[in-house]
Amino acid sequence: MPELPEVQTIVSDLAPLLMGARIIKVQVWDPLLVRFPGAEDFNRRLSGGIIRTMTRRGKYIVVGLDQGLTWLVHLRMTGRLLTKLEEDERHLRAQFTLDNGICLSYCDLRRFGDMWAFFPGEEEHLGGFRTLGPEPLSEEFSQDWLLQAFARRKAPVKALLLNQSIVAGLGNIYVDEALFVAGIHPGRQGHSLTEEECGKLAAAVKEVIQKAISSRGTTFRDYRSGLGTVGEYQQLLQVYGRKGEECTHCGTLLDCMRIGGRTSVYCPRCQKQK
Ligand SMILES: [Zn+2]
Repeated sequence: MPELPEVQTIVSDLAPLLMGARIIKVQVWDPLLVRFPGAEDFNRRLSGGIIRTMTRRGKYIVVGLDQGLTWLVHLRMTGRLLTKLEEDERHLRAQFTLDNGICLSYCDLRRFGDMWAFFPGEEEHLGGFRTLGPEPLSEEFSQDWLLQAFARRKAPVKALLLNQSIVAGLGNIYVDEALFVAGIHPGRQGHSLTEEECGKLAAAVKEVIQKAISSRGTTFRDYRSGLGTVGEYQQLLQVYGRKGEECTHCGTLLDCMRIGGRTSVYCPRCQKQK
């Protein structure tokens, strides 16, 4: 699943190409794609609209049009937003034709991706977008924030960091990497983290996310940036996908455990359970 750095890369690539362009044709072939409003209203709202802004919030792509209309996109597991289609593309779900010659294609193998087109006052239809926690690189996301968010929480810290209302944009890859950098076992109960550990963890999340954005994200399975290029952070991964390999820090073999249905890879020596 694309996480914050991958979505940021897609937005950074696409924004300069799309801003100022008018959407002249909307075609949606997958009835599962549009979450709000209905398919017909979605087409009508976006058709003729001029793209004024394109930003990211958590793992969402946020496109601002005129009259306060916002086009929201979540790629979920395998969604891709591309300006060039590969010849053998079999998973095309929607296309947005612009008046500047660009045709933006939405492809999605597993079809979990979601889109919304909403006006101010319609936020109740936006599901998890309304309850997103702070951005990891914001000042609000800090030692104090984590200490307060983890208080009285018995859930494993791995699961808490995947909770988008605690921090926006993290997924399996960057949570595993941040916990390793902070030296914290993924199965530790949230409330058991000390103030110092919360400080280390907040700093680790910021460091990992910043480096991953600079590397244009991690390339895995279906990820492509908006221009069809791939990221390079996989060369810097220290634990994710490395189960059974040596810890880069101490040489111990990396172990893994299931937490909330997700695999967590960690170093049993650098990240003690306590
Ligand atoms: Zn180690």
